[in-house]
Amino acid sequence: MPIYKGGCYCGEVKYTIDVSPDDARTSLCHCKNCKKFFGTAFGLTTKVPVSSFSYTSESKKPTIHEADNGSGTTLHREFCPTCGSGILEVGAAAMKDFRYIMTGTLDHPGDLPPKGEFWCKRREKWMPEVPGIFHKQEIKD
Ligand SMILES: [Zn+2]
Ligand SMILES: [Zn+2]
Repeated sequence: MPIYKGGCYCGEVKYTIDVSPDDARTSLCHCKNCKKFFGTAFGLTTKVPVSSFSYTSESKKPTIHEADNGSGTTLHREFCPTCGSGILEVGAAAMKDFRYIMTGTLDHPGDLPPKGEFWCKRREKWMPEVPGIFHKQEIKD
């Protein structure tokens, strides 16, 4: 299986993902939470099985932030304590099975292109759809 490497902006947090591309799902998300956390118009994460993800032995420990900011679920996020780069996130319900890696922290983000878009009803008007992938108005529809 390919091993994908990634890390934060300053290089103190480093990780590997040992996963087949078929078991990794990159997606855009246009929800309000993603806009806030990413500081951009949408979030871009890669969903991988929890067992495939690990911080390297020399990596600094990430800072953890957990909150329910009104979405009805507790979101767990990990980011670099030094430079602030978001590394991953996961909702309480998926905690034991998956991690959603911030795709831009991969050393080669283009290796795992998006398979879909969520929360398209919150898409910024200037941003076109990505063609050829699935499009959901919310999470479950
Ligand atoms: Zn960093
Ligand atoms: Zn989102």
